[in-house]
Amino acid sequence: MGIVVQKYGGSSVADANGIKRVAQRIVATKKAGHDVCVVVSAMGDTTDELLDLAEQVSPLPPGRELDMLVTAGERISMALLAMAIANLGQTARSFTGSQAGVITDSTHGRAKIIDVTPGRIETALVAGDIAIVAGFQGVSMDTKDITTLGRGGSDTTAVALAAALDAEVCEIYTDVDGIFTADPRIVRTARRIPRVSYEEMLEMCASGAKILHLRCVEYARRHNMPIHVRSSFSQRSGTWVTDSEERDPVEQAIISGVAHDRSEAKITVVGVPDKVGEAATIFEALAESGINIDMIVQNISAASTARTDISFTMPREDGQVAMTALSRLQGQVGYDRLLYDDRIGKVSLVGAGMRSHPGVTAKFFAALASAGVNIEMISTSEIRISVIIDEDLIDSAVTAAHRAFELDSDEVEAVVYGGTGR
Ligand code: ASP
Ligand code: MG
Repeated sequence: MGIVVQKYGGSSVADANGIKRVAQRIVATKKAGHDVCVVVSAMGDTTDELLDLAEQVSPLPPGRELDMLVTAGERISMALLAMAIANLGQTARSFTGSQAGVITDSTHGRAKIIDVTPGRIETALVAGDIAIVAGFQGVSMDTKDITTLGRGGSDTTAVALAAALDAEVCEIYTDVDGIFTADPRIVRTARRIPRVSYEEMLEMCASGAKILHLRCVEYARRHNMPIHVRSSFSQRSGTWVTDSEERDPVEQAIISGVAHDRSEAKITVVGVPDKVGEAATIFEALAESGINIDMIVQNISAASTARTDISFTMPREDGQVAMTALSRLQGQVGYDRLLYDDRIGKVSLVGAGMRSHPGVTAKFFAALASAGVNIEMISTSEIRISVIIDEDLIDSAVTAAHRAFELDSDEVEAVVYGGTGR
């Protein structure tokens, strides 16, 4: 039997009892004959609490020190977990990201993994030990400073290690039984998705599904590493994220799920002169400020004024920076004014089946209409339709779309076992 990489999220190791419970699970996997490498997140809300503390001592903490601070969270959980395993009579050794060979670039707070050289992990596994690795952290190749991969980055650590170790599977343990057709906190009758392709999962992550880190799915797709998302609180099978070829086409639903996102804001640049190069100027300024744009809509210019409105969405947390960057352009571009709206939400329908089924858009929009939801913006990919709507209507929109595509289960399948949802 081969190597299994297991990742346990913060809600699975929230307290001493959680750590003991997880330790038992790990030991059971080891006793079943696998070599086990475990990636662990910080306990409960530790990362948030550390960030709150940093904010109290400095309004703008240096990135290097912030990374040094928050990586301590994972160091606590990895050491405690190794102790709990030792108490069950197995040897476990904990390693920081740096010791585990997670090499990154030097962008503090959102470093990218450049290479994984897990020599020490392999040695530990060959010796019959269980290896425990601190999630979401690495070491910069250039500066040798400690880095972090961004919030939720332990998933990416797990997949990267699984790929480097040539593991059989990367199991991601969380507080729900897998990936559901909608957030079970909104739709109680959401259904567990047994299997989903990397492609659909990427679209779901980009549409606000927070269950997996987007970069971990990209990494898994590139290395063809199967991910099994499941609960650490139950023994049920969860959701397999794999290559689409591995799915039975008969089982294939048209729509895999409905995702939502409350983290975006919308800016409208009103009265942009309809001339060559204006849009380029606007979006260059935003790019220089490091802002990631999501949806863009440009209206047809009114014939009388030869002016047009351009609306776009981006992360709410970048709203202030974007407004500042754009207001500097007013003289140059000659637009009338800027509008900022952060009371918006995005609802997306994702499914590979929509490639070959006409009428999906019509059905989605009809469902929104009958729920009294007005559509402000629309964007699509081959396998996704997203709309921007009033933030207060997200729950109704998700519920209506979920029902229209007959995704509801007859019984309540989704149990949320833990987590504060923070
Ligand atoms: N502890 C980190 C966070 O809360 C990393 C993770 O949990 O994946 O973002
Ligand atoms: Mg997480």
